[in-house]
Amino acid sequence: MDHWKHYHVPETLEDAIALLERYGGGARVVGGGTDLLLDIGQGRAPVPEAMVDPTRIAGLARIDLEDGFIVIGCGATHTMITCNPDIVQRGTCLAESCGVIGGPQVRNVATLAGNIAHALPAGDGTVGLLVLDGEVETADGSGRRWMPLTDAFLGPGKSAIDHRRTLLTRMRFRPTGDRAGSAFFRVMRPQGVALPMIAMAARLQLDGAGTIVAVRVTVAPAGPVPCLSGAAAETLLGGPAGGERFAAAAEAALDGLALRDSKYRASSAYRQEMVRTHLPKVLAVAAERAAGGPIVLWGEGK
Ligand SMILES: Cc1cc2nc3c(=O)[nH]c(=O)nc-3n(C[C@H](O)[C@H](O)[C@H](O)COP(=O)(O)OP(=O)(O)OC[C@H]3O[C@@H](n4cnc5c(N)ncnc54)[C@H](O)[C@@H]3O)c2cc1C
Repeated sequence: MDHWKHYHVPETLEDAIALLERYGGGARVVGGGTDLLLDIGQGRAPVPEAMVDPTRIAGLARIDLEDGFIVIGCGATHTMITCNPDIVQRGTCLAESCGVIGGPQVRNVATLAGNIAHALPAGDGTVGLLVLDGEVETADGSGRRWMPLTDAFLGPGKSAIDHRRTLLTRMRFRPTGDRAGSAFFRVMRPQGVALPMIAMAARLQLDGAGTIVAVRVTVAPAGPVPCLSGAAAETLLGGPAGGERFAAAAEAALDGLALRDSKYRASSAYRQEMVRTHLPKVLAVAAERAAGGPIVLWGEGK
């Protein structure tokens, strides 16, 4: 395999941007390298002239509470996210989704930024951040800007963030407040690595009477880009949190989403059955958490 000639670890964002500009599209941003090095090694991505690794930039390898958001720097690994007490309590589905990625070795180096920039419709961390209404910040020579997470995807494996010229610097979401909770669950082949057969996540908010007043639901993969199920949310909104409604929401999600046959992962029929079986449980756990129930992470490390 040919190799890149330079590996840069800039200490400031300005230096990172200057490097990307200097290479004029010949460099590639790298996080943990757990997707990118395989892609290069297996010929799915060209060998760049240089790698630019922003994970050591001060302020980008951390998780902060800032202006009412939980802000995650692009250097934060899945392990950091899963172990962060604020995210466990107030962004639980993200802690759960990052906690099942690969094994400990992968989670110790791989980043949420890399998961998002890889742009797979069922990237686990991506799915967790999606139901939290996440946003991503990009930076290049023209400045820094926030955009909704949903705008970061163009198609399967196609990111709207040009990883040769632009950095995904930070991600953020509003922590779930009183009477709100979230949950993530995925179905994986026992020997599976990387992507699940099907994943599901939900965030619910209840009022004092137990009525659902805000909700976001996703099932993935269910299309070329990560997407929410508007039909499931509509079924739930304004009603009580409970079994029959949760089963109806799973049926509504199935009506509105295209679950594909995949020869590597699972048939569409199997995926549908998994949604029927597990989405009501995901909703029930999110509702229990919203009602003040204890938070014990689901599936961590599995
Ligand atoms: C054994 C194994 C198991 C895995 N299991 C799972 C799994 O269960 N679930 C799952 O979702 N994924 C899984 N993955 C895939 C991978 O680990 C994750 O997607 C991970 O989050 C990628 O992060 P990274 O930092 O390693 O990204 P990298 O490989 O460094 O980069 C991935 C892509 O993002 C771009 N990029 C990275 N950082 C930035 C940035 N800051 N700004 C702009 N572009 C950037 C790169 O140029 C590249 O295109 C697995 C991988 C392996 C090897």
